[in-house]
Amino acid sequence: MHRVRRLLAELGSKQGRGTELISLYIPPKKPLYDVINNLREEAGTASNIKSDTTRNHVLDALTRVTQRLKLYKTVPENGLVIFCGALPVSGPNTETIQIFEIVPPRPINTYLYRCDDHFHLDLLRQTLREEETIGILSIDTAEAALGRLVGDAIQVVEVLTSGIAGKHRQGGQSARRFERLRENEINDFFTRVATHANKTFIDETPVQKLIVGGPGPTKDIFYKGNYLDYRLQKAVIAVIDTSYTGEEGIREIVQRATPILQDVRLVQEDNLVDKFIAEASKEYGLAVYGLNNVIDALNNNSAGTIIISEQLDLWYLLFKCRKCGNTVEKFVKREDIFATQTQQSDTQCKVCGSKDWDMQQQDIVDFISDKALATGAQVEVISGKTEHGQMFNSFGGIGALLRYRPKNPNS
Ligand SMILES: [Zn+2]
Repeated sequence: MHRVRRLLAELGSKQGRGTELISLYIPPKKPLYDVINNLREEAGTASNIKSDTTRNHVLDALTRVTQRLKLYKTVPENGLVIFCGALPVSGPNTETIQIFEIVPPRPINTYLYRCDDHFHLDLLRQTLREEETIGILSIDTAEAALGRLVGDAIQVVEVLTSGIAGKHRQGGQSARRFERLRENEINDFFTRVATHANKTFIDETPVQKLIVGGPGPTKDIFYKGNYLDYRLQKAVIAVIDTSYTGEEGIREIVQRATPILQDVRLVQEDNLVDKFIAEASKEYGLAVYGLNNVIDALNNNSAGTIIISEQLDLWYLLFKCRKCGNTVEKFVKREDIFATQTQQSDTQCKVCGSKDWDMQQQDIVDFISDKALATGAQVEVISGKTEHGQMFNSFGGIGALLRYRPKNPNS
């Protein structure tokens, strides 16, 4: 995963001369001949490109990708991501076709082909983002379903049916005997569900939070009966009433739990800000704040968690001299982007005197996230509107909790 992070940080800075950089995302189980056919069609379209250089670059890149795909019998288990295009090796006019092939650490779900002046990295970034997994368990006497919520994505892991007959007994059976049998069956079913829950939520993908739901009183009996492993029992953050069971029940639980999860998220944010303020108030505490200090902490690899307020209005501008490659970086508010660009286009390059600048802009969260990806630091974006958020804003809206305190020659 670390290798992929580094590669992402590297590819993020690559820019094509024209619309000629190819990004290809292939989900698992996609037939490769489909992909190869699609690339053949793209090559047909690309042969109409007017610029000779761009057309040749795109066609060469498509050939390289197709050749590479032919080496595979099937798409790897997690899918396959390929970036390919003409990139300068040493300065302008030294472009050669380069290909980057990545088997993502987590499965990708989307097929995507793009030809652009930059690589499309967002989908790959998303698979790397360590989003919390929340366990979802829906249960009633007829069936149970286990699912996961990761970010906004709901995954149904499995549905178990109980085979237990309805509440009404057959003729010829005594009421007491029927009740006893039914209770035993329910008990067996609950035990079976708990075993599956242990496998899914402890062994496969451990969760710190679990939400239980279902129609009627069954879910409460299940939860209060301590059928779950004590670790899962402790992880239950809510028990929710629903109308549906099974797969539909999982979706309904997620929908109804949204406000609860938001509250949980706010509590986490508050704790993070408390921890940050406690460290920032100590003389040699493990926290820094302000944009420059945070960037320093990322550069010297001491940053553990970067905290950014949603209300931090800052953009990163990168100007690159088209003649000699000299770069100038600036951080400005959104309203000043245009003025800064205008001013730069009238400024001579300090190295070669040219006024021909290539300009790129990036939101501060993306800029910091890219830097953080390369070092393994986490980025937490918090609401700037809560009481804790406002306290954090008074530190400049950006800060970092440090893994260790680097030796500072100036202090
Ligand atoms: Zn220059």
